Amino acid sequence: MPRVFNFSAGPAVLPEDVLQEAQSTMLDYKGSGMSLLESSHRGKEYEAVHNEAIANLKKLMGLGEDYTIIFMTGGASAQFALVPLNLLGPEQTADYVNAGAWGTKAIKEAKGIGKVHIVADTTRDRPLRMPKQGEMKFTPSAAYLHLTSNETIEGTQMRVFPKTSTPMVVDASSDFLSYPVDFKQFGLIYAGAQKNMGPAGVTLVAIRKDLLAQSSESIPLIFRYKTHAAENSLYNTPPCFAIYLVMLVTRWIEKKGGLAALAKINADKAAALYAAIDGSGGYYRGSASREDRSDMNVTYRLPTEELEDKFIKEASAAGLKGLKGHRSVGGIRASIYNAFPRAGVDALVNFMKEFQQKNG
Ligand SMILES: *Cc1c(COP(=O)(O)O)cnc(C)c1O
Repeated sequence: MPRVFNFSAGPAVLPEDVLQEAQSTMLDYKGSGMSLLESSHRGKEYEAVHNEAIANLKKLMGLGEDYTIIFMTGGASAQFALVPLNLLGPEQTADYVNAGAWGTKAIKEAKGIGKVHIVADTTRDRPLRMPKQGEMKFTPSAAYLHLTSNETIEGTQMRVFPKTSTPMVVDASSDFLSYPVDFKQFGLIYAGAQKNMGPAGVTLVAIRKDLLAQSSESIPLIFRYKTHAAENSLYNTPPCFAIYLVMLVTRWIEKKGGLAALAKINADKAAALYAAIDGSGGYYRGSASREDRSDMNVTYRLPTEELEDKFIKEASAAGLKGLKGHRSVGGIRASIYNAFPRAGVDALVNFMKEFQQKNG
């Protein structure tokens, strides 16, 4: 079976080089006589992988000594709880932007922990869109402002972030490392690995040290950012193999030319797909407002749901997999993360043209 074009939103396609490298070390990691899957997280083989992953991520993110990178488990969903547990004091309010399904989930969790204020809510707007800073009503001296940089389900992306003295916390799960961002504008960045950075099982948290110093000491040790930071993410056994793959992905990104080079490739891929949508005479209709269109998740509709079902079925038979949109938005979602090849975008564009000719 040849490899298909995998448009899945996550877990998502990984670079073939990375999979091959991991395969080649599966039985014997660098002469150790065992797989990294079987190695101690305190052994020298794993230690080198762990520290290289952190160093490479810090470098790609352009962060210095004033930030700490930790690896955690429980996905970005665990961060929905851990952010307020660690950073939202009992007398404080946290500001949240709600622009989609993931923002909504983060808010639901935070509301169970402390006081939450919604600064803007665009979830009912059509076309789907991100709010602008002018629409946001901030709380003076909020504990933090929480944003979702890329709403994976809706296919909307925020690239210009609010200017505020409140520390910004960003869920960057689905556009992390896809283009150069000034990460220093955030107090905390978190991202589940399985969209753009590796397999499921590990979540990156990068936190500014002043926020880390203020974070809670009245929650269980295992949930404190401080615990994991103090132990270099080795307080408990980390997901070693997932972190190994993340490390390989960071090397792959470096080899590709870094974030600027990836941004160009990603923008070209997205532009080709949006051009096919916009050039279809209204047969395909983008779900997101043009100015907020995501380069990572391209969402669109066909004239009827019956045609959408047919499209997804026939695309799948042609080796274009994982195109079904989330049920809350409907239609098609093509996730085209860093590792998704340009050839797959071209194949989808051709398929769309043929499908329209036959069914238009
Ligand atoms: C996928 C995703 C999540 C949830 O990740 P889990 O690992 O399933 O917890 C949260 N936020 C965004 C933006 C996502 O894309």
